[in-house]
Amino acid sequence: MPKHSTNDESYRFLFEDADIRGETVVLDNVLKELVATNAYGPGIQKLLGEFAAATVVISNNLKFDGHVVLQGRSDGPISLLMVECSSDGDLRGIARGDLKAPEGPIKSLLPNGVLTLTIEPEVGQRYQGIIAVQRDELADVLSDYFEQSEQLATKFWLSTRAGSSAGLMLQQLPEQLVKDEDERLDQWQTLCALADTMTPDELIDTDTDQLLFKLFNEWNVKRFEPKHIRFYCNCSRDRSLNALRLLPKHEITELFEEQQTVTMNCEMCGDSYHFARNDVDQSTEPTIH
Ligand SMILES: [Zn+2]
Repeated sequence: MPKHSTNDESYRFLFEDADIRGETVVLDNVLKELVATNAYGPGIQKLLGEFAAATVVISNNLKFDGHVVLQGRSDGPISLLMVECSSDGDLRGIARGDLKAPEGPIKSLLPNGVLTLTIEPEVGQRYQGIIAVQRDELADVLSDYFEQSEQLATKFWLSTRAGSSAGLMLQQLPEQLVKDEDERLDQWQTLCALADTMTPDELIDTDTDQLLFKLFNEWNVKRFEPKHIRFYCNCSRDRSLNALRLLPKHEITELFEEQQTVTMNCEMCGDSYHFARNDVDQSTEPTIH
C-alpha cells in the first residue's frame, strides 16, 4: 500500500463511547496546486497550507451544499489570505501582499489581523464569525474561537511543510451518550492529551487509519468513508465576461482603444480569458443609465 494512500482525502470519525467527533485531512497535490498559482514564498505557503487543512476539516461536517471560506486580513505583510472549500471538496485560495514574506507566527504575518469564517449554504442564510488573530498558531486561534462561539469544546491540530499540510480536529458533541459532566470533561481532556502526543510530521506522514489507531487505540473509533478533496476553481469565461460588462461603458471603450483583446486573469487559479470588443457588446442588456 502506498504510504500516502490517504492524501487529498478527508475523513470524519466518531468515538463510539463518547460524545466526541473528529475530522482529519492530509493535503498533498491539492496544496501543491494551490501554492503554484502565484509566486508565493515560504511564509505564505505555510499559512496557505494551514488555512487549507483547517478549511477542509471545518467544511467536512457541513450538512448542506455550500462553502466554507476562511479569510485573514491585516495591515501587515499579508493583506489578504483566503481559502474556500465546498461541501463537494473543491478547494481554492489566494494570498495578497508581500508574497515573499518569510515564515513566522500568524500574528506577525497578519499583525492586528482579523480572520473571518463564513459558512455559505447554497440555500438559506449565511453565517459569519470574526476572530482576532492574537495567538502564534492558526490552530490555537481557531480552537479559541470555536470554543467561544459554538460553546462546544473544539480543538485543532495543523501541520504544514513544503508541499503538504494536514489537519486534525476534535469536537465535543451535545450531551447524548455520556450524561455525567465530569466524565464528559475527562473524556475530552484525555482525547486531547492523546492527540497532543502527535508530532507535526506524524500528522502529515501517517496513514489516517494508522494515525487513529496510534493515538486512540484504547477507544472505539468509527471512521466514515473519505471525501476526496481537489483543487478546483469555478471561474468561467461567462463569469469573467459578466464582470467585464459591469464596467462603465467609457472604461470598456478605453480598454479596447488600447488593445484589440482584453485579458482577464483569475487570481485564484491563474486561468486567462480573452475577450474581443464583439464579445462584450453581444447580447448586453440595454442599461437605463
Ligand atoms: Zn479561476
